[in-house]
Amino acid sequence: MNKVYTIGRAKDNDLVIESKNVSNHHALLKDIDGTLILEDNNSSNGVWVNNRRISASEINFLDKIFLAETEFNLKKYLKIEGDKIKGIIDQNDTSQLFGRLKKIEQEFETEKDAINKLTGKNMIYFRISVIAIMLIGMSRAIFPNLSSVMQYLIPVIIIVAAASIYFYVQAMEAGREKEKQRKLAKDKYKLKFVCPTCDNFINDSASLIEMKQEYKCKYCKTLIYKKPK
Ligand SMILES: [Zn+2]
Repeated sequence: MNKVYTIGRAKDNDLVIESKNVSNHHALLKDIDGTLILEDNNSSNGVWVNNRRISASEINFLDKIFLAETEFNLKKYLKIEGDKIKGIIDQNDTSQLFGRLKKIEQEFETEKDAINKLTGKNMIYFRISVIAIMLIGMSRAIFPNLSSVMQYLIPVIIIVAAASIYFYVQAMEAGREKEKQRKLAKDKYKLKFVCPTCDNFINDSASLIEMKQEYKCKYCKTLIYKKPK
């Protein structure tokens, strides 16, 4: 099946590329039975494939393509199944892209929750033991005639104090381990929650992005989200 897609800055193109140096009707992309031909459509600043200016050239997904100074990423614009082109991605429909990002963020939140739930029991035991020591100490002040019993309580206090130190050390160690895991999870998230065009980390949460009418990448202006009508 043969298809011709128009590429350029004007809104009437099949693939609209919002970039100042791209001409209104910059290029043509022809799909001839699965073979892709890219043609310069008398653009001002040219079409470049792997650093060579072309008037027409067969291209594939590995080629580095520039329209003037703007990189043209085939995968971003075309629906691809296997190696076959199944049409053009509607650039105003961000549901697929944003859905993917949202899923990445949800996975990160789930992982964070799991890390936060990791046994915090040692800290609780530590607090209980500290309170126990305080209560024993206080009971002496409140009931002065308990002093005869105090001599029996001293070994108890020592044992409880030793336990509290143990629980404290354990809790600190668990805390450090949790911190490490949190950092790892965050690093992983930062590598995935990125703009599909420039790979930069999107430093806003999905819920914040969804509150806006439209959200573009801060670096390359790729449309990341557009509120559905
Ligand atoms: Zn970007």
